[in-house]
Amino acid sequence: MVSRRKTRQVNVGGVKIGGGAPVALQTMTAVPTHDVDACLAEIQRLARAGSDLVRVAVPERRDAEALRHIVRASPVPIIADVHFQYERALEAIEAGVHKIRLNPGNIQDRKKVDRVIAACRERGIPIRIGVNEGSVVERRDRARRAIEKAALEADYAANLVRLMVEKLEEYLRIFDENDFHDVVLSAKSIEPRIVIDVYTEISRRFDYPLHLGLTHAGPPETGRIRSIAALSALLASGIGDTIRISYAADPLQEVLDGKELLCCLGLRPRTEPELIACPTCGRIEVDLLRLVTQVRQKLAAEITVPMKVAVMGCVVNGPGECEGADVAIFAGRRRGIIYVQGQQKQAVTEDGMLDALMHECRQLQARVLRGEATLTNAHVCVAAPEPSRPHPEHTSLPAVQ
Ligand code: SF4
Repeated sequence: MVSRRKTRQVNVGGVKIGGGAPVALQTMTAVPTHDVDACLAEIQRLARAGSDLVRVAVPERRDAEALRHIVRASPVPIIADVHFQYERALEAIEAGVHKIRLNPGNIQDRKKVDRVIAACRERGIPIRIGVNEGSVVERRDRARRAIEKAALEADYAANLVRLMVEKLEEYLRIFDENDFHDVVLSAKSIEPRIVIDVYTEISRRFDYPLHLGLTHAGPPETGRIRSIAALSALLASGIGDTIRISYAADPLQEVLDGKELLCCLGLRPRTEPELIACPTCGRIEVDLLRLVTQVRQKLAAEITVPMKVAVMGCVVNGPGECEGADVAIFAGRRRGIIYVQGQQKQAVTEDGMLDALMHECRQLQARVLRGEATLTNAHVCVAAPEPSRPHPEHTSLPAVQ
């Protein structure tokens, strides 16, 4: 079990972040916020997929005006993402959003930041203070900009971590002076190593809850490994209270991958079927990859309970995995053995594998929903083979009845 770092807790429209609450999953809409219907449709789709919170961009007054309708109809709390214009933050707060994401570094006048803090205090709304690799270097003060750039040129990774932490400290002083501590922190980079180092350092210095994420990770094909490498290392060491996986893609993919990451780390209970499949090797004697694809599609369409389903290619690891799953099959030469909750049920031909497996999945689901069965918490059978048992590769599968 992951032992979580202790932090303060903030309340985002009923979703608790930090202070021992489950790690909250969030994403961001990709449609214009002022297109209320499209924005709401996207929020509903993302919430259905498992996003606990949704952030929306508020670059213009008409986006802030749309928030009134969006907040009222949204199934999950809404976070307003504000840059440069503090007025958008005030309008979003007035519209009823549940959290503000702000970068004090791009709001020039300190008094304006104070006004946003005062408005959030009045409404009990937390603020995420975020620094980002792409905008952490000073833009207005030329002398300071030159110093920061020179430091990054000397040792980019180490000085970027230091610079991000310094900027957060600088911004946090504004919040401390306002005695406002309803705060979440983030510091995003494109490099997993930097993300791990900067969040580790932040977690040592502050007890505010942390929003984990990478910036500009790219499309899922290239960004997935980057994101998971950084976030899983942090989460596994107990750091992180809310996450967003960011892709240049449909935000639905961010939610699906974020959910899977949290489930894999035991930080979120699984609510959907889990498919275990062997990677295949030279031993397979059926078209296993096609079967796995078909099973995955059918599970997504027909099974709503979190049953564990295994599809294995041969007798080497097949029986062990099958004994640890709710419904499973392991294949041999043009046929396979179906298991249900650890018990062998039947032998089937290759043509009948998909139908027989899905039949057992549906049957078990029906029994679970009627309260006649529970899903197994079994694990792979790790018992050593009996000395008298023949080597598994020489074991022949029973004949099809
Ligand atoms: S279960 Fe069998 S076919 Fe699948 S990877 Fe392992 S040894 Fe190969």
